[in-house]
Amino acid sequence: MALLEVKGVESGYGQLQILWGIDLDVIAGETVLLLGANSAGKTTLLRTLIGLLPCWAGNIGFDGDVLQTLRPDQRIRRGIAFMSELGVFPALTIEENIRLGGYALTQAEVRRRSKELFELFPDLANKRRQYASSLSGGQRKMLGIAKVLVSRPRLLLMDEPSSGLAPVFVKQVIDALKTVIGGGTSLLIAEQNVAFLELADRGFLIDGGRVKLSGTRNELESDDSVRAAYFGL
Ligand code: ATP
Repeated sequence: MALLEVKGVESGYGQLQILWGIDLDVIAGETVLLLGANSAGKTTLLRTLIGLLPCWAGNIGFDGDVLQTLRPDQRIRRGIAFMSELGVFPALTIEENIRLGGYALTQAEVRRRSKELFELFPDLANKRRQYASSLSGGQRKMLGIAKVLVSRPRLLLMDEPSSGLAPVFVKQVIDALKTVIGGGTSLLIAEQNVAFLELADRGFLIDGGRVKLSGTRNELESDDSVRAAYFGL
């Protein structure tokens, strides 16, 4: 059974409809890429899934629960986390950011998780008392990932982890995500950068608020329209 099952989801802003019947699923343990150009509707979909935007029609199922009628905090308590493009608080230290990610945990749990996450991201461990503003773009994204992983979400919705990053930092973030995969958190990554396909078991191509194509990584990589639009082939 799918961990996340999205069926016929419609949403938008005020009178403006952006999503037109989105069907998508994530199986437990999978990494799924939501690939789409600027304005395709990726952020709108993630915000609808976490409950920051109303779901006008359709269903959002999560491990057997119906989500679309729940508040964002109720969805988060069921094990979904959302990492926005910004992700961290620059005026707080690395340690403080991570502690904030574990606001719902006991102090002992936060200490235990911080230790595990600092082992996973040694670059952050060395700078734990520095302000997040002192980090490079790539390291900031890593901190954003660590912060959202403190609570061990079952599903992490990531909005454009590559945004604002130079290619060398994008590679760093992809490598950091490789270490996260397999640790019990399924990932749904919204991206316009096709390099993230490398991480994915499957992908969904979204355009104009509709799913245009879905398939395994291999199927997407060999699809002519994906190759033309994203690989420039
Ligand atoms: P990007 O890479 O640019 O973030 P995206 O795929 O995440 O692209 P969305 O941010 O979901 O795209 O935007 C989809 C459409 O919704 C766009 O046409 C955008 O202009 C519109 N939109 C986004 N936010 C709002 C808003 N607050 N009010 C009205 N329209 C919005």
